[in-house]
Amino acid sequence: MSYQVLARKWRPRNFAALVGQEHVVRALTHALDQNRLHHAYLFTGTRGVGKTTLARILAKALNCETGISSTPCGVCSACTEIDNGRFVDLIEIDAATNTGIDDMRELQDNAVYTPTRGRFKVFVIDEVHMLSKQAFNSMLKTFEEPPEHIKFILATTDPQKIPVTVLSRCLQFNLKQMPREAIYGHLEYILGEEKTASEPAALRLIAQAAQGSMRDALSLLDQAIAYAGGKVSEDSVRAMLGAIDQDYLFHLLDGLARQDIKAMLAVADEMEARSLSFDGALQDLATLLHQVALAQGVPDALAQDLPERERILALAQRFDAEELQLYYQIALHARRDLSLAPDEYAGFSMNLMRMLAFRPIEPRGAAPPPVAREKPGASEAQNVPAAKSALAGSAVPTARSVPARPAVPASAFDGNWPALAMQLKVSGVTKQLAQQSELRNFEGECIELGLAFSAKHLADKVYQDKLRDALREHFGNAVALKIVIGEIGGNTAAVQAQSERQARLGKALEAIQDDAFVRDLMDTFDATIVTDSVKPT
Ligand SMILES: [Zn+2]
Repeated sequence: MSYQVLARKWRPRNFAALVGQEHVVRALTHALDQNRLHHAYLFTGTRGVGKTTLARILAKALNCETGISSTPCGVCSACTEIDNGRFVDLIEIDAATNTGIDDMRELQDNAVYTPTRGRFKVFVIDEVHMLSKQAFNSMLKTFEEPPEHIKFILATTDPQKIPVTVLSRCLQFNLKQMPREAIYGHLEYILGEEKTASEPAALRLIAQAAQGSMRDALSLLDQAIAYAGGKVSEDSVRAMLGAIDQDYLFHLLDGLARQDIKAMLAVADEMEARSLSFDGALQDLATLLHQVALAQGVPDALAQDLPERERILALAQRFDAEELQLYYQIALHARRDLSLAPDEYAGFSMNLMRMLAFRPIEPRGAAPPPVAREKPGASEAQNVPAAKSALAGSAVPTARSVPARPAVPASAFDGNWPALAMQLKVSGVTKQLAQQSELRNFEGECIELGLAFSAKHLADKVYQDKLRDALREHFGNAVALKIVIGEIGGNTAAVQAQSERQARLGKALEAIQDDAFVRDLMDTFDATIVTDSVKPT
């Protein structure tokens, strides 16, 4: 028997088998069981989360010979033919390759005819956002007055590109990225059924590399089985993925804990000699820092079978919570900026040096940390979260191999929020949020802003998060942001900018009125100044 790839063999054939999209399944199940059918469905979500799989299950649910239900029988000829991709009334179109108006005309011509075998003729259009404008327009006719026997199932990774006229006629479902745990559990289940041995750490590596896509996870698992030629072991998966040997990362963090830049750069040199991916390394480093932070805060959250669990727990003893936050942030930034760096090695080693150069601000009066920064002996004072004093307190310079110089010392914030709001690297709605709000309070690590009722639409979580991130970037530490909707005094950047503009306008007007030539014109020709036309320079 020929080998069938896992993604196909284990493609879910009914709603119950679909992993990780329970919210969509629940809604669709109810609709089907109560016979509340829509004529067009839209599934959105990133690649490999199950959009087309869901489309096929829905097609079965609509066409199963036992009747419309959320539990198609799976054995009637309609069900089996759909499973095998041979059902004449299921027409699957990949808009990525058929973007033209001709394809849509063909679809429309076809749509006129009643189904040959099934109850409905189901059109599945994958990557529907790729359709041309004319193709959308021609599709719209069928969409507006759909024949009873037609169902559309659209799938896309990019719903923004779909015309509103089409969107508004679809029942939309947003498929989530697969959580790592769900992927891991599914891989484990499949290997159990396949009677293939595996190491949990190997499956965790695959689940991580799949980045939320079950399809990618199963492809990687296929590869891993072929690669290992038997048991799917951690070593073989690591080698296959080209994953960075965790040893490197542990050496890096060990060097960081000891503030030993030489040791850290030696690791970078070794990585370059072995042509390891620095981008991958930064990603793995951020993952490891996240795990160390977790180990510190919620040790139970670390999976028992996590590779290197013991080493992670040990590292958690050697850093402060604030340090981990900062290093994590620096690693993320370094990864984002890697393409801008002169070369990847420079980008990566600068990242290491930055981790040494910046540090959370120590609480006022706290003793500088001991040179060997082993945690167990740390005093109570050092455990006070340093960021608490970040805004109100002062920086204590610390001796280290690289001079400490935060991006902007947070202690330098003078409470002039309008000025700060203009400096922050934000755009769009977030910029509006910064400029329309006023400072209510700042103390410890928290900045509290007031926002008028009339502007409360600016306070959407997305924009609050962006603003908070910009503040963190500005101050170089973990600033918290709180926004209170209510009455405000008007000490905002927007109001200031407006009154400055008014003042400049007044001055401009005055200057024009005082201008000798203008006076001359007015006297001689009985001219007047159209004040609206005056603009300050
Ligand atoms: Zn059936």
